[in-house]
Parts: sequence; structure tokens; C-alpha cells
Amino acid sequence: MKESNITNLLTTDYIYLPYNNMNLLIKDGEYVYKNDLIMYNETNKIYSTVSGKVLGLTNIQNKKYIVIENDYKDKIKKRTNKKNINNYTKEELYNLIKEYNILDNFDIKSKVLVINGIDKFNQDITYNTLIKEYTTIILDCIDALIEIMGIKKCFFAVSNNDSECINILVNNMGTYPKIDLKLYNNDNIIGNKKILINKLTNYKNKNYNIQYLNIIDVINLYNLLKKHIPNTTTYITLAGNLLNYKKVLHINLGTNLYDILKEYNINDLDNMIINGLLSGKKITNPNFIIDNNIKSVYIEKIEEYKEIECINCGLCTNICPVNINPKYMYFNDDKKSKKYKEECINCGMCSYICPSKINLTERGNKFDKK
Ligand code: SF4
Ligand code: SF4
Repeated sequence: MKESNITNLLTTDYIYLPYNNMNLLIKDGEYVYKNDLIMYNETNKIYSTVSGKVLGLTNIQNKKYIVIENDYKDKIKKRTNKKNINNYTKEELYNLIKEYNILDNFDIKSKVLVINGIDKFNQDITYNTLIKEYTTIILDCIDALIEIMGIKKCFFAVSNNDSECINILVNNMGTYPKIDLKLYNNDNIIGNKKILINKLTNYKNKNYNIQYLNIIDVINLYNLLKKHIPNTTTYITLAGNLLNYKKVLHINLGTNLYDILKEYNINDLDNMIINGLLSGKKITNPNFIIDNNIKSVYIEKIEEYKEIECINCGLCTNICPVNINPKYMYFNDDKKSKKYKEECINCGMCSYICPSKINLTERGNKFDKK
């Protein structure tokens, strides 16, 4: 039997779902099933990621969460879907996505489909691992989306740093002639949505609406079409030079980082970095709730350098993938600097290359952006 490279960690004691003053459909003490809709507002719907008892509201790092006590039974209300994933109309797909709030950027008029199989942070291994583990599911789902949406051109971008992943894909691509596989060196930025879309579509597809999906979106869409279930889980890379392994964890949305660290006996709380080593954010409090924006957790000892004065070498500007002036952005606070902060994709390359060790992205940190 093939050994899985993904570790399921779906049995933490409590789940924390972001409240944000939404309309509640549950009361304290009530029993909820996994996948039950428990709160909503005009733009968002939150489903329970486990079955269990609602304990009420709690405050974590100035955010309010509804706490659910996991009963480990994963009880779900029965759903009956016998439809093949190809057997949907465009409208049915659109309505399902809306009903289950699977994507916030679905454009039914799209004629170009961009699938991002390259992790946003180049040390992460989540997407390559998912592609290897769920090759057929992913390709079947992309193929079904092409048919349902009437897609004219579909690009599937994959990092070529994992030869096993490439071999598996290439061996399977014969049956999916409509998917155009694109291999790239993951130079830390190609997994960024804006950069990838520009790279793939800047020459001839400008007139078409473009639908962008990452690999986790594709897996969520497969589950939606196959089982009519909302997205209640995510995948993250757990790595770092203080661990002797690098893993992909499959966890419930709303898992507390503290419970992950406890599971793996990680006590090094001074060296936690969220979302990539170059552009990530150091956190000191492990009481931190994982949502869809969290892609990786590194337990990494980083050498502290003392910042010295800028020597005007220009390296930061030369390396910036979106052609802005990182030094100007950092040292100024005017209109131009604000515009640069908007355009910055927070890749961290400028700070990495800077010989004066100036943390140029510190003020323009876009940690909350997807
Ligand atoms: S300013 Fe720095 S962090 Fe922002 S995009 Fe340019 S190189 Fe990346
Ligand atoms: S790379 Fe650093 S030292 Fe060189 S110009 Fe940019 S901020 Fe100054």
C-alpha cells in the first residue's frame, strides 16, 4: 500500500471559528454536525468543521471565535449526490459555489483557466505533495471544469523542483489533452497569483476573463461536485531548521496552532514563522488560529543581523519582480510610497538581497492578503 505524504491532524479537541459579528444559527450548548452552516453574513458563510457541542464565544488575540468541542465522531447529516462531476451545467456549478461559499472570486464568464500548482512560498511543499497524492482527482476536476465552464484555454503551472511530481503528472497527462502543463523554476515569486497570471496570459488572452484557482481550490471544488460539501479543511507545510522533518498537514480550518505544536512536542516558541521564510511573519504567541490564509508554519532559528545604513547599491530595485523601488517604499511615507505598498506582493526578495540587512517590507507587510 502506498504511504501517504500527507498527515491528517483532524482530531484536535477544540475548533475556533471566526465570529466577526455574523448572524448565528446556533446557541451555546447546542450539538452541531460537521458541515452544518453555523453563521453567515452577506459575503461569508462559516460551516462547522467537526461535530460536537458549541461552547460559546472566546477571545483570541483580539478576535472573537465560536468554540466547538470536537466529539471525534465526524457526524454529518446525510447528503445524497449521485451525480458524476462532469454532469453539471454552468449555472448549477455557479449556484453550488455560491451556496457553499467555496470561492470568493468565481467568474462564470471566464474562458481562460489558470491552475496554480506552485506554492506561493518557495520552501513550502504543500502543492507538490497534493499533486502527487491526488493526481487523478485534480486532473479529473480540472477537466470537468473545462467542460462545464466552456474554457478555451487551460494552463496548469507546476514547479519543476520535484521530479517525482513531474513524472507522475507527465505520465497521466495523455488522457487530458485540454490541460496545458507549464513547468517553472520556483524562484520564490512565480507561485504568486498576480505574477503567474501575467506570465501565462500576457501575450494573447487579454480579452478573456480569467479564472484563477490554486490546487487547494481544485480539491475543494472536486469535493463540492462529488459530495456537495463545504470546505472545512486546509493543508499547510510544517517545516524549519529546528525540526528534523518537513511535512504537509491536513487540518480543520479553525485549528489552534498550539494544538499542532502540542501534537508534535514542539516547545520552541521563540522561533515560529508563519507563511514562508523570506516574507513570513514571526509570531510569539502559539495561541493562533489557522484559517485559509495560512500556508505554512516554520520552526526556524534565524540569525539576527544588525541593520546598517543603506549604501545605495540598487540591488533591491533590480530584484523586485513588480518593478517598484523597495528602498523608496520603505524610507518614505508619501503618495508614491503608498502606491508602491499597494503594488508590493510581499515576496521578501528585497530584504533578502539587501547587503545592509534592512527589512524593507516591514512597513508594507501584507500578511493578511491571500
Ligand atoms: S518591494 Fe520587495 S517584497 Fe515587495 S514585491 Fe518588491 S522585492 Fe518583493
Ligand atoms: S539593497 Fe539595501 S543597501 Fe542596497 S539600495 Fe536597497 S536598501 Fe539600500
